[in-house]
Amino acid sequence: MRLLLVEDDRLLSESLTRTLERAGYSVDIAPSRQSAETLASQESYRVAVLDLGLPDGNGLDLLKLWRQQGQDFPVFILTARGNWQDKVNGLKAGADDYLAKPFQSEELLARLHAIIRRCEGRSDDMLTAGSFVLDENRQYLTLPDGTDHPLTGTEFRLLRCLMARPGRVFSKEQLIEQLYSLSDSPNENTIEAYVRRLRKVVGQNTIETRRGQGYTFNANA
Ligand code: CA
Repeated sequence: MRLLLVEDDRLLSESLTRTLERAGYSVDIAPSRQSAETLASQESYRVAVLDLGLPDGNGLDLLKLWRQQGQDFPVFILTARGNWQDKVNGLKAGADDYLAKPFQSEELLARLHAIIRRCEGRSDDMLTAGSFVLDENRQYLTLPDGTDHPLTGTEFRLLRCLMARPGRVFSKEQLIEQLYSLSDSPNENTIEAYVRRLRKVVGQNTIETRRGQGYTFNANA
């Protein structure tokens, strides 16, 4: 799941990126308002984490611009300023949630999960497709026979993408876009290799190949 992290504090953005990547996000860092504006207009993000105090402008103005442009990905505001006016202004400008620095990364992850879940219309961290259940906290897959299977980070991200919309066909390019950040350089063979590995877990026909189109999760295979 692609995440845009807008944060000018390099130490914080690097440590947050490690935390977020472990939790299954593909993270692009924007250290300025301008770079965030450019990235958001070119890439497709599922969620953004936005610092308000940026070297070349205010994060709130950027958020207002995104909402005016119809960018509707959920936005999570991070800021050193913890007073109530900032929270109210952030929410009024179109933010979905808010956390004041310093914060615990567990709280950030839990709140991020919650806003994404709400956007997907779910009430818990379990993603279900047919008799398969993906536990987003533990990054485990429960198979129809009840056995748990641990997943690597990339396996988890790929399966999450497919299972979130069973029956929808994803091209290899779309999967690469959702699975990797701009700093990675995967190719279509990488996706093929991961699909082969996942098929050994979920069964050959559960991840269907649509010739010339891509892959789809068939929950009833
Ligand atoms: Ca800042």
